[in-house]
Amino acid sequence: MADFLETMPKAELHLHLEGSVEPETLHELDPTTPIEECRAIYSYPDFDAFLKAFGAVGKRLRTPEDYALVTRRLLERLAAQNVQYAEIILAAGVVLWKEQEFAPIFDAVCEASRGSAVEVRWILDAVRQFGVEPAMRVAELAAERVDRGVVAYGIGGSEERGPAGWFTEVFAFARRAGLRLTAHAGESMGPESVWAALDLGAERIGHGIASVRDPELMRHLRERDIPLEICITSNLVTGVVKRVDEHPIRQLYEAGVPIVLNTDDPAMFRCSLTEEYRLAASVFGFSEAELLAIAENGFRYAFRRPEKISSGDIPCGLSR
Ligand SMILES: [Zn+2]
Repeated sequence: MADFLETMPKAELHLHLEGSVEPETLHELDPTTPIEECRAIYSYPDFDAFLKAFGAVGKRLRTPEDYALVTRRLLERLAAQNVQYAEIILAAGVVLWKEQEFAPIFDAVCEASRGSAVEVRWILDAVRQFGVEPAMRVAELAAERVDRGVVAYGIGGSEERGPAGWFTEVFAFARRAGLRLTAHAGESMGPESVWAALDLGAERIGHGIASVRDPELMRHLRERDIPLEICITSNLVTGVVKRVDEHPIRQLYEAGVPIVLNTDDPAMFRCSLTEEYRLAASVFGFSEAELLAIAENGFRYAFRRPEKISSGDIPCGLSR
């Protein structure tokens, strides 16, 4: 099983660039923060503390070169796990909050991903609790780059402090611009937050684990073929799931809800995609055939059909 999981072709659909920055790289970017202090940033008693840590890492990405460096490091780690396709979430909302110019940063990450073994697409996301106007600015930045590898627009951050209903117009604008839509929801809040994200037109749900508490919602996700981007370790580290065996991945899968497996923030949660599959096997009893089907979902639910990947190369072949 170990070798099989390592070599199996994989896709990452829920992966934050800023969350992939290792403490050692953070120290390299900001030598004024001692390495022990950098490591201390990566511990979070609760979900809000994690959001603050995410901001603390983001703050230390100061130049386009910094962003390029962390992109290269991430892609090396993905390639080593045979991740062949990745939709990387770039926190454009944080870039604007830092009052940085977005264009040179996006140019730098595009350049850094050129020539990688991993086929890369970008999702620009806004921070819910920053409000509507900054979210619209992110949508505009995404809309300007639909021909340059930006496939989708999303919202993340605090579901409590940035309710989905605020963003109806923003999502409508993004859709008209040709962007696909995703939203973090049902991570720290209940099923009603997932329904609200669906009302916005979200085509994939980041986490969405609270859906397990609402049979009608699970039926809706299954019938509409809307996948949940499941990130097991993330949910444990942020405390939204208290114990690994309480994670609802198996129940969601058994209910026929489409799922994809992801890392979310691999450095901040000390995980890898291969290890997430291993966890699914060891704790939740997923068989090789089931893991292959989930891996295939990573390609199937990509917002743009992977170009470099021939159907023979992916686990079961792209069936549609
Ligand atoms: Zn996320």
